[in-house]
Amino acid sequence: METKRPTIPAAEEILGQYFPVLDHGFVSLVDYMGSDEDVERAARVSYGFGTRKVSQTRGLVRYLRRHRHTTPSEMVELKFHCAMPMFVARQWVRHRTASINELSARYSLMPLLFYMPQKEQFALQSQSNKQGREGGAPDEIYAEAVERWERLRHDAGDAYGWMLEEDVAREIARIDLPVSTYTQWYWKIDLHNLLHFLSLRVDHRAQWEIQQFGQVIAAMVKRVAPLSYEAWVDYDLAAEPLTRVEREVLARLVDGSDGGLATRDGAVVSAAEMKEMGLSAREIRELVEKVQTPPSQDFDLDMSSMKSADEMAELMYKAVPGNFE
Ligand SMILES: Cc1cc2nc3c(=O)[nH]c(=O)nc-3n(C[C@H](O)[C@H](O)[C@H](O)COP(=O)(O)OP(=O)(O)OC[C@H]3O[C@@H](n4cnc5c(N)ncnc54)[C@H](O)[C@@H]3O)c2cc1C
Repeated sequence: METKRPTIPAAEEILGQYFPVLDHGFVSLVDYMGSDEDVERAARVSYGFGTRKVSQTRGLVRYLRRHRHTTPSEMVELKFHCAMPMFVARQWVRHRTASINELSARYSLMPLLFYMPQKEQFALQSQSNKQGREGGAPDEIYAEAVERWERLRHDAGDAYGWMLEEDVAREIARIDLPVSTYTQWYWKIDLHNLLHFLSLRVDHRAQWEIQQFGQVIAAMVKRVAPLSYEAWVDYDLAAEPLTRVEREVLARLVDGSDGGLATRDGAVVSAAEMKEMGLSAREIRELVEKVQTPPSQDFDLDMSSMKSADEMAELMYKAVPGNFE
């Protein structure tokens, strides 16, 4: 039967297909409801599926996002099937505005798949950011870390498999699986809250591993609602809000009274003056960063990595104790 619901060819192309993330994870767009036209229809509370020009829809979508009229984009929903290491899930789940159903390790047998960072992602503690990593790490430290991880995971997996064989309850057998173990969930969220999630999680301050998931999801949003995606990049992702004092600093440098913008001849605001105006050393660094041209960011799916649901299910099935080849 033909559907009366609006569909988006670029989204249909990837619907139900699986895109690998990290070493054993994935993201799949399971379903979506609506697109940019639905944002417009909701904003206008209009009848039927009218035929507005793309340029009109684009103008409205951009206006809404620029002025934070957010409820129309709550009318679009996306549903994903995702697999991620438990430590990534723990960051992800902090976003309370989604509906989640996670694989139950009380009910199901866990695939013994553990995240192993690649050498390029293995780094020492950042000196400037207590939540971050920085530079590389000596080869021998990485080699030993891998060896230790493998030993721990082997022991944890072995104990899990042994307890299952002894018919120990699954809810008990799983308690010492490490947070590198992959879990899975269905995750449904509206477009407004999804873009908020992406703003925080594709950002360079988020942990690299969750950024990888964010990038794939952003590329899927681009297919479902390209105009909203474009507006999000322009007004959120690549934008920075200015504080009151930051605006005062910029007003000393730039004159806007003629309708255009012009530099005030020879005007300089030194770091010492900014400090006097009330900015902390960190805020001064952040303001300097804000006025640099941001690196352009765009997200696309690697279509060559796309897998079918059956292929992905088989990989997971083979990783369950008792099903190893
Ligand atoms: C780089 C980074 C580092 C982080 N570090 C830490 C950390 O060290 N420790 C830690 O605990 N967390 C940390 N977090 C998590 C962070 O504090 C937020 O909990 C998380 O990003 C979810 O953001 P949110 O509440 O805006 O999103 P959602 O939960 O998706 O909420 C979206 C929006 O809905 C509104 N909302 C939702 N629920 C409520 C509510 N109950 N009351 C009022 N408004 C609500 C808010 O406006 C909110 O912004 C970190 C996040 C990032 C991105």
